[in-house]
Amino acid sequence: MLSRLARSCVKRSSTGGLHHLRYNHNKVIGIDLGTTNSAVAVVENNQPKILENKDGNRTTPSVVAFTKKDQEILVGTPAKRQAAVNPQNTFFATKRLIGRKFTDEEVQKDLNNTAYKIIDHEANGDAWLETTNGRKLPPSQISGYILRNMKEIAQDHFRKEGSSEAEDISAVVTVPAYFNDSQRQATKAAAKIVGLNVLRVINEPTAAALAYGIDKRQKDGVIAVFDLGGGTFDISILDIEDGVFEVRATNGNTHLGGEDLDIILMKKIVESFESENENSSIDLWSDRLAIQRIREAAEKCKIELSHVTSTEINIPFISGDKHIKLTVTEEELDEMAKDLIERTVNPVKKCIRDAELKIKDIDEVILVGGMTRMPKIRKVVEELFGKKPNTVVNPDEAVALGASIQGAILSGQIQNVVLLDVTPLSLGIETYGGIFSPLIPRNSAVPIKKQTMFSTAVDGQTGVEIRVYQGERTLVRDNKMIGNFQLSGIPRALKGEPQIAVSFEIDADGIMNVSATDKTPREAVDEAENNTVSIQVSSETGLTDEEIQRMIAESSEHSKEDAERRQHFENASRADILCVDTENAVEQFGGLMEAQEKDEIMALVNSLKSKINDIRQDVKTYSIEEINAEVGVMQNLCLEAIKKVAVKQQQQEKK
Ligand code: AMP
Repeated sequence: MLSRLARSCVKRSSTGGLHHLRYNHNKVIGIDLGTTNSAVAVVENNQPKILENKDGNRTTPSVVAFTKKDQEILVGTPAKRQAAVNPQNTFFATKRLIGRKFTDEEVQKDLNNTAYKIIDHEANGDAWLETTNGRKLPPSQISGYILRNMKEIAQDHFRKEGSSEAEDISAVVTVPAYFNDSQRQATKAAAKIVGLNVLRVINEPTAAALAYGIDKRQKDGVIAVFDLGGGTFDISILDIEDGVFEVRATNGNTHLGGEDLDIILMKKIVESFESENENSSIDLWSDRLAIQRIREAAEKCKIELSHVTSTEINIPFISGDKHIKLTVTEEELDEMAKDLIERTVNPVKKCIRDAELKIKDIDEVILVGGMTRMPKIRKVVEELFGKKPNTVVNPDEAVALGASIQGAILSGQIQNVVLLDVTPLSLGIETYGGIFSPLIPRNSAVPIKKQTMFSTAVDGQTGVEIRVYQGERTLVRDNKMIGNFQLSGIPRALKGEPQIAVSFEIDADGIMNVSATDKTPREAVDEAENNTVSIQVSSETGLTDEEIQRMIAESSEHSKEDAERRQHFENASRADILCVDTENAVEQFGGLMEAQEKDEIMALVNSLKSKINDIRQDVKTYSIEEINAEVGVMQNLCLEAIKKVAVKQQQQEKK
């Protein structure tokens, strides 16, 4: 186990500066890989523009279908069109499943609401998909097909222009701000598989802010981006000043969006059918074709109610000769959306708090995501921020446009604009006594590199286990472990002497590398030979958004209690070290101590050790004063005994 070196000794930390590499590409496309729809854009003549797909549409449904014999893969509108006749092989909203375990509560909920099959991948417990033909695939593969489609739209565009970029496409891809390491890596891997050279992964709300900010670059200030799409909700607060876009804080939920409202509406439709057919035993939920038709009708009704106050749902022959016909009003839909809307409020408040701002400090609120077209949502956002949200940017296109602007910044087409994004949770390692020592606090700008010096906690320790955690709590056991590795081969030395540099590096995509180096100065040992081990935090250990939400909520809930516990734990660790010192002294000088004195000291050491153990195991608490008083008595007794030993030694030397 590691212990932190005293601050005054060797704590060093360096923060990476701006990552402003220029790539040697003329044009870099921007892709918004949305839960419901995707879009691709590119900057030309200094203007970002959306590229139309083959059908002339500016967005493409994020839907992939396998024809019944798996012979053909359809992407976008053709896939969506045949969904009603082939629902089990039509995959939509699969972004909600990326990087998730099958047993996740949210995945379990989706099992009943989707016509396609979600399975448990035996090897790693991830949520996977299965066609009726038995083809098994990860949700990121669906993202891959959509990305390939976006790439083809760009290639068609470049070919038409006679541009050489058609063959070698580089892209900036967006993800929800709250995507964890594993979800980001899965997205990057999907792009790589389809031959897209991903230069950067950026957060959706940040991209939207870029689109907005570039448009009105003269207007500096603080902006909030409220992004509610089909499957995810993100809120980000950014500072725009002189072309620097700095994300101050971000929050959200990767499993909250328009699909949730569709499901509530679907339930209402099924209930209405059941109440009209009380005597029938028809179970619409088990009829995948019927459910797909109901889903489409629910979404259509929801969208219509953004423009009219009442609409009719008509689904003929839903089962045999039975039909569905009902009227839904805007008021009823607003009532159904109440919980969904409510769940966006807390992340917004937390985000503003994290940005160390007050609501009145926000100059502009930008709406992104299809769901923000719903009048009730606009009203709630207006009430929340005390100002009318800005709707100049098209909510369906802003993210892709912003991604293309980031692409143009990277290729050097757009200059004097810099983007600084942040990491959503604190990252650090476990130190002696189970304490969480954060190296990178949450909402730190990325890319970032931080290094802190640690040392050994026990004499003669030759190896340390570096355990990497993510979270906001004081003790590691309340946070999430995201990786661990061993640094061995440390030459034997007294505790506190070895100098172990632990360094965390988060790249501009939000992906993390951790390394540890034994930097103890050694004579005749070349610096280059210093012992180093490192890991890239594995893609299977990412946090789910519920875990992130829970951890942040718990952290503020328990902050007082945590601070107290931390004090107790740190005090116990200090006492433990003094016990070990005392034991060593007794071992070294015990031969010259009086038996009674030795027994008294050791009784105190053992009593203290048992109390320290109680504190660490949470069996019993003792006041810090009580522990310190006992430590004081133990140290005094030991000191007295050693003084006597010194006198005896002097006397012996004289003889
Ligand atoms: P996005 O993920 O940004 O493409 O947003 C898609 C979500 O927005 C889906 O749940 C759509 O049903 C929903 N949506 C699109 N247009 C509207 C609208 N006019 N009113 C309400 N919801 C809409």
